[in-house]
Amino acid sequence: MPELAAPHDEQAADVEEAAADVLREVLLHQRRLRDGGCDGTVCDRCVRHHLDAVRAAMKTGRPLEFVLPAFPVKSPNPAKVLGHLPDTAEELALRFLDELCERIGKLYAPGAVITICSDGRVFNDLLGVSDEHVTGYARALDNMIAEAGASRLRTFALDDVHRDAGHEEMRAKLTDGYAPSLDELRTEVRGGGAPLAMYRGITRFMLEDLSGPHYAGTRSALQRRCRDLAYRVIQRSRAWGNLLDGIFPDAVRLSIHPQPCGTEKIGILLAETPDAWLTPWHSVAVEVGGRFTLMKRAEAEAAGALPVFRGGRPTHYVLEPAARACA
Ligand SMILES: [Zn+2]
Repeated sequence: MPELAAPHDEQAADVEEAAADVLREVLLHQRRLRDGGCDGTVCDRCVRHHLDAVRAAMKTGRPLEFVLPAFPVKSPNPAKVLGHLPDTAEELALRFLDELCERIGKLYAPGAVITICSDGRVFNDLLGVSDEHVTGYARALDNMIAEAGASRLRTFALDDVHRDAGHEEMRAKLTDGYAPSLDELRTEVRGGGAPLAMYRGITRFMLEDLSGPHYAGTRSALQRRCRDLAYRVIQRSRAWGNLLDGIFPDAVRLSIHPQPCGTEKIGILLAETPDAWLTPWHSVAVEVGGRFTLMKRAEAEAAGALPVFRGGRPTHYVLEPAARACA
């Protein structure tokens, strides 16, 4: 009966329209790969690429679920961060993510949740970060989410997969069960494009993280070590992603790394930063003229930023515009 078809089509058109609106809201904060092929303030090709998955999830009438592997552990380099616990840099990012879900709730009534899949336990041994620091960071992050009332955020970690295993054993099980071989990854990186950009970005982070004041060797030896470690970090990250795909099959995958246009994951910026690779756990939050940005700690201090203390602990910096002009 044609007269019954109209409301159904209208409903379908509503979901179609709302799904595109939800994606545009997310893609306003897209972290893009330079020369990755995205175009416009919001990339239409990326909207179209993810439309089917978002529409299918919305047709269930349940909250839209995003998965974000992120918030691993603080960088071990004191020139980049304030310490090993989350601080204002993380707090701002958590609030941003929760508010993003809130805005999605205005476009799609059941709303959205973001599951932060903390990957600290996945590769902390490669960074030379202790398992105790991973545990401390994760607990403090959970407390921060609760205190901020960020009710649309969840956390998930390797500890939730293997509750009774030791940390080394957890990592071994992950690699054995889900990781591509290092040879496969080397072939991918040699092919150039996004895998090469990822490899270079991770190598740069490893170099920065491991070249702190405690490092006594030569620069070239460190570079060799970091190139090898970068492959292992990518291998573990890939394994973690594969495991998460199985646990959250219907979720939309977000990433803190810049992504090429129209691929499986959406790269997302967690804060204003001039460096598309900088994250809250590799930097400090700096308030400049009432707005926050992320900077490496040494750069913030060199620019004349002053630390702000809360509960006896430095949490972020303030940079007076006059100090910035002199720097
Ligand atoms: Zn795009």
